[in-house]
Amino acid sequence: MADPPASWTILATLRWTADYFRAKGIPEPRASAEILLAHTLGVSRLDLYLRYDQPLNPEELARFKALMVRRREGEPVAYLTGHREFWSLDIRVTPAVLIPRPETETLVATALEAAKEHYPKTQNLTPKTPPLWGAEVGVGSGAVVIALAKELPLMAWVGLDTSGAALAVARDNARRHGVVQRVHFLQADLLNVLKPNAALALLVANLPYVPRAEWERLPREIKAFEPPEALLGGEDGLDLIRPLIRQAQHYTKEGGWVLLEVGDRQAPQVADLFEITGAYDRIETIKDFSGMERVVRARRRGATG
Ligand code: GLN
Repeated sequence: MADPPASWTILATLRWTADYFRAKGIPEPRASAEILLAHTLGVSRLDLYLRYDQPLNPEELARFKALMVRRREGEPVAYLTGHREFWSLDIRVTPAVLIPRPETETLVATALEAAKEHYPKTQNLTPKTPPLWGAEVGVGSGAVVIALAKELPLMAWVGLDTSGAALAVARDNARRHGVVQRVHFLQADLLNVLKPNAALALLVANLPYVPRAEWERLPREIKAFEPPEALLGGEDGLDLIRPLIRQAQHYTKEGGWVLLEVGDRQAPQVADLFEITGAYDRIETIKDFSGMERVVRARRRGATG
């Protein structure tokens, strides 16, 4: 371990902390040090390099050290700062919600593409035009439904979650991003509070899908800090995906799309679950940026076929 620097300037603090994190096996040591120091000082990461000679005052140093210790113990950076970027949006997070993952942007991108089939071509809508409806099951922080609501301003949304604490975070994020008028957050098990009236053009979900045995093997950073109810999907990970697929056909309109994020090697099984309902005419698997099958989507068949 390097000796503490003679003076805790921004640059010396970053260097020392990155070395310290590296020695403790903390992932992304330099980035973690930068994000936590920028957060402590209330500046951007770039600002750190514009002021690298500036010493930290004792109060700043004390606050930074407290965060550094929590990070060393595995607490995720996003919970320490209370923020995470998703789809270029600043999303507030608390330990009540899963930290949005970059690969979940694949779900958003795929949903946007599917929405094009229904989305009004012009803004020339009268007040009588019924809104096009979408829903997200298991909103967590709200990152996905908020990204979609921002991208598709002519749609109205329902955001569902079993956790009241998560819904409070999601509502706050929706308010901060100016979409709270168009996203109706409701506490529910899957789709249970909604009428099955075949109204949805889009139904998206990033449900818990981690199989029990895999969850046991997850890094402490995830297992000890993120809500297990947002990750754990039972023995094979499909405990919630299975009933949602059974329900979804009764809630989606003809030509409407159901899009589910899935875990490693689950895509073929999930595609089969859609297939056996007989309710869908297109069932497709989409890979994420690292080449993993990440989203399964299915299009609701019309009454005539
Ligand atoms: N991809 C998440 C992980 O870090 C799992 C998210 C989920 O279960 N929906 O394991």
